[in-house]
Amino acid sequence: MATAPIVAPGGTVGVLGGGQLGRMLAMAAAQLGLKTDVLCPDPAAPAGDVAGTLTHASYTDEAALAAFARAVDVVTYEFENVPAETVAFLTSLGAVVRPGALALEKAQDRLHEKEFVNGLGAKTAAFHPVDDLASLEAGLSRVGRPAILKTRRLGYDGKGQTRLTDADSDLPGAYEKAIEFAWAEVGAAPSILEAFAPFEREISIIGARGADGDIKLYDPVENVHRNGILKTSTVPARIAEATADKARAVASDILGALDYVGVIGVEFFVLNDGAVLVNEFAPRVHNSGHWTLDACTVSQFEQHIRAVAGWPLAEPARHSDAVMENLIGEEISAWRSLAEEPGACLHLYGKRDIRSGRKMGHVTRLTSRG
Ligand code: AMP
Repeated sequence: MATAPIVAPGGTVGVLGGGQLGRMLAMAAAQLGLKTDVLCPDPAAPAGDVAGTLTHASYTDEAALAAFARAVDVVTYEFENVPAETVAFLTSLGAVVRPGALALEKAQDRLHEKEFVNGLGAKTAAFHPVDDLASLEAGLSRVGRPAILKTRRLGYDGKGQTRLTDADSDLPGAYEKAIEFAWAEVGAAPSILEAFAPFEREISIIGARGADGDIKLYDPVENVHRNGILKTSTVPARIAEATADKARAVASDILGALDYVGVIGVEFFVLNDGAVLVNEFAPRVHNSGHWTLDACTVSQFEQHIRAVAGWPLAEPARHSDAVMENLIGEEISAWRSLAEEPGACLHLYGKRDIRSGRKMGHVTRLTSRG
């Protein structure tokens, strides 16, 4: 395994995780003349259709990880729940992992993530660590209701979280029951109670930092979730320039403080006075950046590959306005009419089984830049 920070054309990028993000990373790498080796426990992973090599192994299989480390020039990942031990093991073998362990450590634990973001001077919703029913009750007194209880680790797409609303306290005993119910809902796991942010809209910033410290940010994008899952991402976001600037500054600060290399997705709540609260960040390419494939001169996937391969970042210029819509579960059945729709940019992930809530593809509709 070479440790040189620059991976020249012909070199190999190792990707941990073989979902749709790994698939689109592999396609972007191929465009730049790079090969990919995708390590993933699922032999039918979407990235398998396009990766140079699919290493079918668990993230804790040390023999497979050692062979993977020897075969690739740099390692990246497409999901933030890569076990810390996997990254530590690969690093111990001399592998360069980008983004590094610090970004993963902060992003894997909602409490550490929020403390880190607050430490940079950026705001989040008020929060309180919860380890049992007593601390949940103390948290409710502190952050008020409505509030959201979330597991500190392993939550995604609205999973591992539950709401506590104002109505919970109307009947005698209902308040206690609601607390017990909420705690059971998140699996009685170490959690965090967050104040409900009365947001006007949700936005995200997709940004990148190169190995040389150069930072490039895409335009802020406005996101709409349905059942906790991203449904649409629209650019431009309907926000004031001053709000966009605040979000950009926070994203840049996070990238710098993590000594980050790669693409990051930072999600924000925008309040009606224009203030921005950080919801969370994902140390990887992000679903709310898929529009960049069709509306920009460089996609988030190419930008990520450029960063982790030690190449210069490209200017993330946007040539069109765009609405990206996720195709979730059965919505994939409309593929034929979407394929017929003039101007619709269709991206399907090659997943065999349709399941409710599963991201099967996305479609991006472009209009002239307003
Ligand atoms: P998360 O998995 O934390 O990103 O939450 C998924 C979605 O739930 C967010 O995109 C919001 O729409 C909503 N949500 C999460 N946390 C809060 C909060 N503190 N206040 C208001 N809405 C929230």
